[in-house]
Amino acid sequence: MPVQRFDLIIKRRKARRQLQLDWNLVLRKLDTPPCEHTFTQEAARVVCDERLHLVSPAAHGPCANCQKPYCPACHPRKCPKCDNTTG
Ligand SMILES: [Zn+2]
Ligand SMILES: [Zn+2]
Repeated sequence: MPVQRFDLIIKRRKARRQLQLDWNLVLRKLDTPPCEHTFTQEAARVVCDERLHLVSPAAHGPCANCQKPYCPACHPRKCPKCDNTTG
């Protein structure tokens, strides 16, 4: 599949991150960047505040315990707000 690679720069407050995305020349659309937690192909992405991960809205959902949303790519094992490890 012929693609054209270009750089995408995400700016968020003081942080800055550079990604490479592929523009698909056949389909004439942008390949969706993969969710960095679930690798779903859903189109929507949430940019995390800490390290600018791109994750799906479902993965970036609220903690089951304290209801605060957090980035699962930054904190795969536990909620950073309440240290809840169950879920
Ligand atoms: Zn929590
Ligand atoms: Zn993150």
